[in-house]
Amino acid sequence: TGLPASLPALFAGLAEKEPDAEAVVGPDGSRLGYRELFERAARVAGGLAGHGVRPGDRVAIRLGNEVGWCLAFLGASLAGAVAVPVNTRFTEAEAEYVVTDCGAACTIGPGDALPDGPPLVRDAEPDDLAALFYTSGTTGAPKGAMLAHRAILSAAEAARRALELPYGDVRNLVPAPLFHVMGSLVQWLPTCLAAGTTVLQRAFDAGEWLRAITSERITVLTAVPAMYWLALQRPEFASTDVSGVRRVGYGGAPTPPDQVRRLREAFPDAQLCPGYGLTETCGIVSGLPHEYTLSHADTVGFAMPATEFSVSDTGELLVRGPQLMSGYWRRPEATARALKGSWLHTGDIARITADGAIQLLDRRDDVVNRGGENVYCTEVENALAAHPAVGEVAVVGVPDPVLGKKVAAAVVLRGDATAAELVAFARERIADFKVPQYVRLRTEPLPRNAGGKVVKPRLRDETDWGAPLW
Ligand code: ATP
Repeated sequence: TGLPASLPALFAGLAEKEPDAEAVVGPDGSRLGYRELFERAARVAGGLAGHGVRPGDRVAIRLGNEVGWCLAFLGASLAGAVAVPVNTRFTEAEAEYVVTDCGAACTIGPGDALPDGPPLVRDAEPDDLAALFYTSGTTGAPKGAMLAHRAILSAAEAARRALELPYGDVRNLVPAPLFHVMGSLVQWLPTCLAAGTTVLQRAFDAGEWLRAITSERITVLTAVPAMYWLALQRPEFASTDVSGVRRVGYGGAPTPPDQVRRLREAFPDAQLCPGYGLTETCGIVSGLPHEYTLSHADTVGFAMPATEFSVSDTGELLVRGPQLMSGYWRRPEATARALKGSWLHTGDIARITADGAIQLLDRRDDVVNRGGENVYCTEVENALAAHPAVGEVAVVGVPDPVLGKKVAAAVVLRGDATAAELVAFARERIADFKVPQYVRLRTEPLPRNAGGKVVKPRLRDETDWGAPLW
């Protein structure tokens, strides 16, 4: 295939073939073409080497979405080092944990000038590590997923295909954090593979996001579902011209079929492109061709090329393919639990439909065992999301002395409904043992992490669930 063997090879090629194409636009309005991006990153690499960074050393990046993040990431690569993006929402202690765990030789932080020195370009082998991305830690202490050049580029290519990005004609708006694979490996790098422009936003702000769609002539949107719901609720959505948007990518968290239909109506001229993946797979491993958008709205699509899925006898989704991590940094036991043979254990419970689509039922750790019956939160969430008054919904299990767990739903309304009406609505759609016994209506948004996922332990613990409704 024509896929470059390493990140240095990709960017050296772009600097040569597309020197003047706009590569990245920062939230401060700064703009870099592909040649300038490469040349400045080579100076960062030279600066890192001047600070004693050697090939294979780790370079921690504590920056938000800005051009400097791209320069630091690429600079680390050109120095032969391993980039370690750090979540900027972390407290000082959490960030320190990551910096220490990876044994960083150097940290590039906010307010630091980027390292600078004589240009340095070291090539890398496909199996050399390019980055450690730490998983967000919603399931324990953060672990660094070791991602090799080949894995990152295979995944970026899968995302480019899932979004069907046309070469030389992409302006991708990126509000998702670059320190997550969603922002960097699913959005920035695939855009580079298409020689397109990445427009970075510091954080998601629905008003700014809508304004950028027209001011930056955006053709590709990629975001986590929660961002779309916030933007669609804004009164100015109706007056925003979205006719230039040709791709609407979403994933990273569940999207109920009714929300897919709402997206379909909101962006009538765009192809909808859902994707599913994990940090451990460098981003997406499944996608859905647009002709299946509505017929397969309850799935996350089909395996990407060279990727295979299987379901274990405990219902867990397994995946293998060129995008998998090499393991967790210095965690042989956790690595052995996650990678068995060539298969990655995803922690997601799923079924594969007769035509080969992946239907996610729940995360293994979120399944509610109610008196011996397994209740998959996604099914209950989808049932409630079908109610026209429901904006967002999350289902959790709350402790019960008799049943072990009872089903509880937190709902953000966008119309009028009572908790009792929602229970009656659910009863018509799902078996009685799945119907939530607690429904908490709330006005404030659901608690989410930087990756857009509902933080269910926090939701469960901070909510006053009141008395059971039945
Ligand atoms: P941690 O592993 O530390 O808990 P995390 O779960 O946020 O952190 P990620 O790698 O960012 O780590 O998330 C991967 C998970 O996100 C998947 O296992 C799956 O549960 C969920 N996910 C990703 N894409 C989708 C999607 N399209 N639909 C539903 N869930 C998704």
